[in-house]
Amino acid sequence: MMAISTKTTDHSRKFKDFGDFLSTPGYALLPFKFHRISEEKEVLVNEIGDFLVTPSGTAARIVAREVNPENPSDLELYADLIANFFISPSPLPDLIEVLATRYRTKKSFLDYFTSLHIFVISLRCEHTCHYCQVSRVTTDKNRFDMSQFHIDEGIAMMMKSPNPRVTMEFQGGEALLAFENIVYAVEKTKMEADKHGKHVTYVVCTNLALLSDEMVQYFYANNILVSTSLDGPAFIHNKNRHKANANSHQLVIDGIHKCREILGEENVSALVTTTTLSLEYPEEIVDEYVRLGFHNIFLRPISPYGFATRNTNKNKYETARFLDFYKKALARIIQYNIEGYFIREDYASIILKKILTPFPVGYVDLQSPAGLITNVIVFNYDGSIYASDEARMLAEMNDQTFKLGTLGENTYEEIFYGGKAAALSEVMVNESLPGCSECAFQSYCGADPVFNHTTQGDLIGHRPTSSFCQRNMEIIRYLIETMDRNKEIEKIFRSWITDRS
Ligand code: SF4
Repeated sequence: MMAISTKTTDHSRKFKDFGDFLSTPGYALLPFKFHRISEEKEVLVNEIGDFLVTPSGTAARIVAREVNPENPSDLELYADLIANFFISPSPLPDLIEVLATRYRTKKSFLDYFTSLHIFVISLRCEHTCHYCQVSRVTTDKNRFDMSQFHIDEGIAMMMKSPNPRVTMEFQGGEALLAFENIVYAVEKTKMEADKHGKHVTYVVCTNLALLSDEMVQYFYANNILVSTSLDGPAFIHNKNRHKANANSHQLVIDGIHKCREILGEENVSALVTTTTLSLEYPEEIVDEYVRLGFHNIFLRPISPYGFATRNTNKNKYETARFLDFYKKALARIIQYNIEGYFIREDYASIILKKILTPFPVGYVDLQSPAGLITNVIVFNYDGSIYASDEARMLAEMNDQTFKLGTLGENTYEEIFYGGKAAALSEVMVNESLPGCSECAFQSYCGADPVFNHTTQGDLIGHRPTSSFCQRNMEIIRYLIETMDRNKEIEKIFRSWITDRS
């Protein structure tokens, strides 16, 4: 936190002299930041994400050394500040090693490097979802399916990851249109994984419309997880996810039932994409997930790739509407939990885990350093290698900024440690990004240079007009403020971050 001069004649935000930090009256300040969460309260957050909700003005009192342990009304606050590494009786806290260990633990998602390897197995699709910028309605397999050469090269690169546990995720288009490619890739990977001592988790992302008994049996035999898209009740889903001469909603529900029956409920997940139409129906979307027996729901805003997002006014408007939708849906989810039906919202759960636990959370879209390359890599249908899934969607808009190379042409070292990866790493750390570096929510949030580049034409980005920032700042503030206001809801939130499947 910046130590602001308290001299009445000096209204600048200059740092105090170095000596002020060495010999301090009463106690030394440790690095922390603060954010106003309501008219009456502010939250203090330290370097490892520990937080304290305090009355407004507390941060200023701490900086001015006005918190006095000899004053009975300050005793509890003083003890909390010491115990949670906000201040220290000595310039170097006795427990500095504990602080360092906890910081390392928070960042330990970096220890093993890339885990998620996305194979865009085909770009072909039989749906025409209006928000999709990627798929092709075509039968041209040669042009839009991944070749066996590129599959082999992708597997070889995945085997080079230092991570002993990798995930191989098949995406499309519609992945099941190239089911024979999935079988080829899984069989090949099984052999290579044995040789390299890797544990591989397989995931197929599919709209489930083409699911056959043979496919489900193959998924079962090979422990393959299924991830699908369900945008809510039929009148929303079928508008968002159009399939000619078919009822996409009914097809996905039939597919979910079939997968659950064979694979088990815990091996089938679904995602919501929130379109303009969805914004009007937060309760109905949650109700549909409960009706179908889901115990989690992931409320995602529509991705900006392919949209006219350079217009910041439109961004602001969309973000405000999404936040309104999100809070209404969250209220419905909380109500179900109060009534005894367990259902968690996944985005909130990721943030809550960051806020409430000392554990690392390697969620690709919300981490620092950013998840691209360090956590995820994408092998596109044509052999191109991209830094993230969003990066390959951007490439469909003829923007190759995040293309790292090509399978069969570039080595592992050139892709993961080459000039492009090194240049990107400079904008992947929110601790050093303007705006984020001073933000109290830095350790709960992340860096997203692909989003910045797409929406603002700049890898670093401009936080005051960033819809990524507006959305995350408000959701984080809202979660903290809600927990502080209502202890019953805090209990529900805590139940979301335990390991219930
Ligand atoms: S993006 Fe916004 S909310 Fe997130 S760390 Fe940066 S300034 Fe804070």
